[in-house]
Amino acid sequence: IDLTYAPALESAAIGAIKPRYQMYLDGEFVDGRGDDIVSINPATLEPLTTISSASVEDVDRAVAAARKAFEGPWSRMGGAERGKYLFRIARAIAERSRELAVAESLDNGKPIRESRDFDVPTAAQHFFHHAGWADKLGHLGYGPAPRPLGVAGQVIPWNFPLLMAAWKIAPALAAGNTVVLKPAETTSVTALVLAEILADAGLPPGVVNILPGAGDIGSALVGHDGVDKVAFTGSTPVGKRIQSELAGTGRKLTLELGGKGANIVFADAAVDQAVEGIVNGVFFNQGQVCCAGSRLIVQESIADEFVERLKKRVETLRVGDPLDKNTDVGAVNSQMQFDKITQLSEVGADEGATAWTSSCPLPEKGWFVAPTIFTDATASMRIAREEIFGPVLTTLTFRTPEEALAKANNTPFGLSAGVWTEKGSRAMGMAAGLRAGVIWDNTFNRFDPTAAFGGYGESGFGREGGPSGLAAYLDTDDEGAR
Ligand code: NAD
Repeated sequence: IDLTYAPALESAAIGAIKPRYQMYLDGEFVDGRGDDIVSINPATLEPLTTISSASVEDVDRAVAAARKAFEGPWSRMGGAERGKYLFRIARAIAERSRELAVAESLDNGKPIRESRDFDVPTAAQHFFHHAGWADKLGHLGYGPAPRPLGVAGQVIPWNFPLLMAAWKIAPALAAGNTVVLKPAETTSVTALVLAEILADAGLPPGVVNILPGAGDIGSALVGHDGVDKVAFTGSTPVGKRIQSELAGTGRKLTLELGGKGANIVFADAAVDQAVEGIVNGVFFNQGQVCCAGSRLIVQESIADEFVERLKKRVETLRVGDPLDKNTDVGAVNSQMQFDKITQLSEVGADEGATAWTSSCPLPEKGWFVAPTIFTDATASMRIAREEIFGPVLTTLTFRTPEEALAKANNTPFGLSAGVWTEKGSRAMGMAAGLRAGVIWDNTFNRFDPTAAFGGYGESGFGREGGPSGLAAYLDTDDEGAR
């Protein structure tokens, strides 16, 4: 790795990237029997590191180790003891935050400002929050001693690699389950640094196993007979497949899938604040966010002026080196993602929408996409219906609140929405009519471990965070029976 690539402060953290990472199985770091994965730095297209990957037999071994740990120490341990492990993990994430943030930006392509100020602290927060729950499960309303489910098989995507691992592992452990987790094939580094943290925290062997691999390993894991609970975050097509494969197995399933979030701006909104919210909503993490506000639905009377102000603001975004603290928009994660974004943007132009792109120069190398805003779009266009998962905003307009609601809900997804108005009653009225799991009022992309996150329709079902996120890892069927 070229240490001159980043500012000096980050050099040590870059140096901490190992040339090769092993998987974490039954408390040991071991080589998997699958083919090695070369992880590419999306900003330089250079190899970052090599990841040892699991085979289907490794999945069997990991599930067996998780079962043994579940039946052994873990499920019988008092909640307060489990909580201590979670506290230790949370503190260690905070202590290794610089290293984790740099690794995340190198592996994923996201700006260091985001990994440093959002991904890593939010991951630590999630462990802190669940540490506090571990000895209070009796207060959730499922009887005095609700039971864990057993072995959780968890599959996560590449857009928030560490944070998604934290969202999955923390509630599972707090509730007394054991875990086999598969990170996404392009972003396994921080999950494996987290494995080091888990090992250093003294977590008993087998309680958490982290197995890198591609979709076939995810499929073997979620379909495994020894798994009691499946938690999947990823694309809607894969989620649908998992749901049909698991039908009739009696296994508990939660799915966090795609989205096409609407950000609705009324004429009375505080314009500067709304502009910031729209920018954050769709350019945060290069738009690779399941709850991205990828549709702007703006009141017709202010639409032209609002879009002009938005473009002016977007012109100031700096696209470039993820390790530069001044970078606002980094690289998208993979060639596949880059192609998908550029192809869908071309379709938008072919369908007759007007594309505007920021004039910020892009680095010559790397998967960089210029922030793009589509106007003159209609609800039937693909750019208004399909998840682009990139820095691309599609603008629609409305006249009445009813029309705004109808347009916002005109999607098979139902994950997120934002409402921008100075009128509280209007915001509450819109929230009642919006079919979305998360609705923000005069803000966007705010996350808190106390708040349940999840969707409706093709965005999936089940919640992560808050008491309902814990319930997803507990046997809640015999509520009141004990
Ligand atoms: P993806 O579905 O291709 O992959 C997600 C994960 O599933 C990866 O780890 C992958 O290896 C694994 N996988 C692939 N095929 C599988 C199979 N047949 N069985 C089991 N696992 C399999 O999605 P992606 O393109 O990597 O991720 C982006 C998608 O994830 C977007 O659509 C986005 O909206 C969604 N997402 C949703 C949330 C949420 O909380 N709702 C969060 C982040 C991302």
